Amino acid sequence: MTPPVFRFAPSPNGYLHLGHAFSALLNFDRARETGGRLLLRIEDIDATRCRPEFEAAIYEDLAWLGIAWETPVRRQSEHFDAYRAALDRLTALGLVYPAFESRAEIAKQVAQREADRPWPRDPDGAPLYPGTAKSLPPEERARLISSSAPYALRLDMAAACLRMANLIWREDGEGPAGEQGSIPVQPQAWGDVILARKETPTSYHLSVVVDDALQGVSEVVRGQDLFQATSVHRLLQELLGLPAPAYRHHRLVSDGAGQKLSKSTRATGLRDLRAAGALPADIRALVGLR
Ligand code: GLU
Repeated sequence: MTPPVFRFAPSPNGYLHLGHAFSALLNFDRARETGGRLLLRIEDIDATRCRPEFEAAIYEDLAWLGIAWETPVRRQSEHFDAYRAALDRLTALGLVYPAFESRAEIAKQVAQREADRPWPRDPDGAPLYPGTAKSLPPEERARLISSSAPYALRLDMAAACLRMANLIWREDGEGPAGEQGSIPVQPQAWGDVILARKETPTSYHLSVVVDDALQGVSEVVRGQDLFQATSVHRLLQELLGLPAPAYRHHRLVSDGAGQKLSKSTRATGLRDLRAAGALPADIRALVGLR
C-alpha cells in the first residue's frame, strides 16, 4: 500500500502563530501515526504580500517545533506553468471569463442592487460578484483585454455546476457546525470565484487543487476556516479530472479573548513565544496537544 501523504501549506506573508503550529503539528502527528509522508508547501503566489524573510522563518520555526518534512519544498511561485495549464483546460471548457471591474466598482454595483433587497454574501462574508462582465460582447472583451486594463478571470459557476452531479467530499474531521462524513458540495455559495488575474495565472483555489493532485496528497489536514472553500476545491477537481483527497478540518486556535489569530498578533507568534522562553512542549500544551 502506498503511504498516505499529508501537507502543511503556509503562506509566507507573516510569521507563524499558534494556529499554524497546531495545524503543522496535527499533520506531523498524523503522518507519524499512519506511516505517512509529510510535505511542506510554500503558498507564495501573491508576490505583493509574500517575503523571503517570512519563508525563512517558516523553516526555522517548524524545525524548532521538531517537525520534519520532505525536501525539496514546493514553492508555488515556481510552478505557474502547471496552474496556467489547468486554467487553459477550464477555459477550453468555456467556464472562464474576464471581469474588468475594480473592487470599488463591484462594491458600487452591489450597493445599487442592495437598495432593493439584500445581496447574497459568500461564506467568508464578501458580497457575491454580480456577474456583469459575463455578458460583455466578444468585441468589447477583446478590446479591454488588449488594452492596459487589469482584469480577473472568473469561473462561470452556474455553467460549472451543470457539469457536476451529486458531488461530495469525505470529511474525517469536523466542519464548524459539526459536519462529518459525506459532505454535499455547494460551490454556488461562492459565486463566480476568481481563478487567476491578468498578472498572476492562478489563485489560491486553483493552485491548491493542482498541487494537492500533483503532489499526491491523500489527506488534507487544515483549519475549519477553509471548510466551506472545500466545495470550490472539489468542484475544480471534478472539472479538471483530478483525484479528491480526504479532508480533515480542525478547530481553530483562538486567543485568550476568543478572537481568531492573525499573523500580526505578537502574543501568539511562535518567534515571540520562543524569545520569551517557551519550549516546543509548551507550544503543544498551549494548543491542546500532547
Ligand atoms: N495557504 C493557506 C493558508 O495559509 C492554506 C491552504 C490550505 O491548507 O489549503 O491559510
